[in-house]
Formats: sequence, structure tokens, C-alpha cells
Amino acid sequence: MTAMTRRSLVGLGMALPLLGQINWANAASPSPATNGGPARINYNESPWGPSPAAREAMREGIGLCGRYPYDAQYRLIDLFAAEHGLKPDQVQVFCGSKLALQHAVMAFTGSRSLVVPEPSYEAPAEAAVGRGTRVHSIALDARFAHDVDAMLAADPAAGLIYLCNPNNPTGTVTPRQDIERLLARKPAGSVVLVDEAYIHFSDAQSCIDLVKDHPELLVLQTFSKLYGMAGARLGLAIGQAPLLQRLEAFDGQNVAASPTLLAGLASLQDRQLVPQRKAKNARLRDQTIAWLAERGWRCTASQTNCFMIDMRRPGQPVVERLAEQGVLVGRIWPSWPNWVRVSVGDERDMQRFRSAFAKVTG
Ligand code: PLP
Repeated sequence: MTAMTRRSLVGLGMALPLLGQINWANAASPSPATNGGPARINYNESPWGPSPAAREAMREGIGLCGRYPYDAQYRLIDLFAAEHGLKPDQVQVFCGSKLALQHAVMAFTGSRSLVVPEPSYEAPAEAAVGRGTRVHSIALDARFAHDVDAMLAADPAAGLIYLCNPNNPTGTVTPRQDIERLLARKPAGSVVLVDEAYIHFSDAQSCIDLVKDHPELLVLQTFSKLYGMAGARLGLAIGQAPLLQRLEAFDGQNVAASPTLLAGLASLQDRQLVPQRKAKNARLRDQTIAWLAERGWRCTASQTNCFMIDMRRPGQPVVERLAEQGVLVGRIWPSWPNWVRVSVGDERDMQRFRSAFAKVTG
């Protein structure tokens, strides 16, 4: 059943409280993420968590948990679609974008191969290997951007070409013209997936506007990173309706949880959230990278909430020694064994990182 037919099953009169009527001023401010325990800068999570407006919306959502929240899901889809000039049937909701990624691998590979950058987010390759699908891993180029020409050359009949922009773990951005070149030259029948989990932290332009001209382009975004909702599980897939319908074979008619959906809506409605968090993250990241550079350590030119440090020696023992100092970082990508990934936490996390790093490398 398509999203539109499902939508027609939802009675318009099933009123949810209007988010505009919630008194955001009463919302509690986020509690400090790290209190007493280790500094957790190892999973690219948000040190700030859901915004105050999202927290209040989650509390509202608890009261609605007795009902299936299709209405909230459609409102989220409608708002996101309107903001991006899309039709509602070009947006699909997933309980986290990882699920959408896994379903894309299932839908578009099988007997055809998967092409991925290396190093990058491993979830698509892991999903493919689990199903016996051939995976072509193509090294990032000298700019640490995707080498789109090599990715295209890897298999002229690839089922799925995965791009991560900005890339996890490097935080680096692939120029828009490279992605456009890949889309123009890719073979018919190969789906291109642009994973934009970290796009909100960066100055990179989203590829969502390309969806209208490219029936085999799928873009994924998530509320887990800048929006601070990793634990609430909310991701979006954006593509032309027939492409999304191919994902539905695996997704069925899933719906996210009411507190999650209302928090997603509140996050999108908060116009200050992205610019404020983007600026705060960039300041903390760039300060840390500058501190490392002053001490002779080279880092990737990150535009996200993580970066990598070239340790010039195996990185795993460094991860372990930092953990002994109460600072969790990592992980190591086997193709870049000397590089350690560090996520950007809050002010205190980064202070703890600097003092532990100085001890471990001193
Ligand atoms: N895509 C990338 C590049 C990621 O780094 C992650 C998580 O770290 C995900 C997708 C999965 O995010 P979600 O929490 O939306 O499943």
C-alpha cells in the first residue's frame, strides 16, 4: 500500500494538539550530557540531545501513545516536503536512517553490486556482505572527497552507489559538481544514494533539489545528529515515488513513535536550532583541531561533528589509552589504521579530550 493510500485511511478529525499551542517557554533545558561518567565522544552523538521544544513535544506525544500516530507522521512529511518543494509522496519516514540504508541495500542490490567509498559509514557494506552481495570499496581521493570517477568505473552495472556527504568518519565534503557528474554519467538502473546524516553541520548543499530530475536518486537525512534525537530513532528517505515504493517492499507500512514524530516536527519548526547548533559545533571542532595542529597533529578538514587525527602510528592503542583516561573516542577504520575518529562533544568533553590527549601523547 502506498503512503498516499495509507494517508487516506487517517481520519482528518483525529486531532492532535497543535504544536503552536504548546508553551515552549515551560520546556526544561537540556541536562548536561556528561555528568561523572566518561566523556563519550565516540559515536557522533549530540552532547545537547533533543532541543527544549522537542522535549516538550515528546512529553505531549506520550499522551498520544494509545493510538497509531499516522496523523503525526503525515504532518511531519507534509512539513518537510513543503520546506523542500517536494510532494508528500517523495518523503518516507523510517525509524532511523540506518534502517532506510539497509532497506535500500536489500531493494537495489541482490545480484547487482554495491559501490561504497572507503573509509565511510559501514552500514551499507555490512548489510550487503550479510546477503552475499559483491561490494566495491573505492578509496577517497587526495582531497578526502569521493572519487566519483573511480566509483563509476568500479562496476558499470552496479545496483547501488553509496555516497556519504559529508562523509563519516572523515567529516569531509564531496563537491556538488562531482555528485552531479556521477548522476549524469551513471548507468541506467544504478541507484545513487546520498546519505546526508551530517549535512546540517556543514556548508554543503543538500542533493534534495536534484530528486525531481533524477528518478534513481535517493537522499537520506536523520534527526540523530544535529537534532540530537539518536535515541528517538527518526530518519527520512527522499526520492521519487516509484523509487520509494521499492523500499516499501521491506518497510511495509511502518510508523514511528508519537513522541518521536512530534519531536521531529518541533525540531523542524524551530528555525534557530540548525544555525545555533551548527555554529556551536563548528566552534568546538575548530578549536580542538587548531589545538591539535599547534602540537603538530594533522586532522581531516571536517565540516561535521567528527574529525580524524593522523596518529602516524597505529591508532587503536591511542583509543585504549584515552579510554583509560575517561575519554571514549573512536573508532579505527581498517583501511586507515593510523587515524583515530573523534566526535565533537560539549565544551567540557573537549577540555577532557585535550588534557587526556596531551597525557597519552606526551
Ligand atoms: N548514516 C551515517 C553516515 C551515519 O554516520 C549514521 C550513524 O552514525 C547513520 C546513517 C544512521 O543514523 P540513524 O541514527 O538515523 O539510524
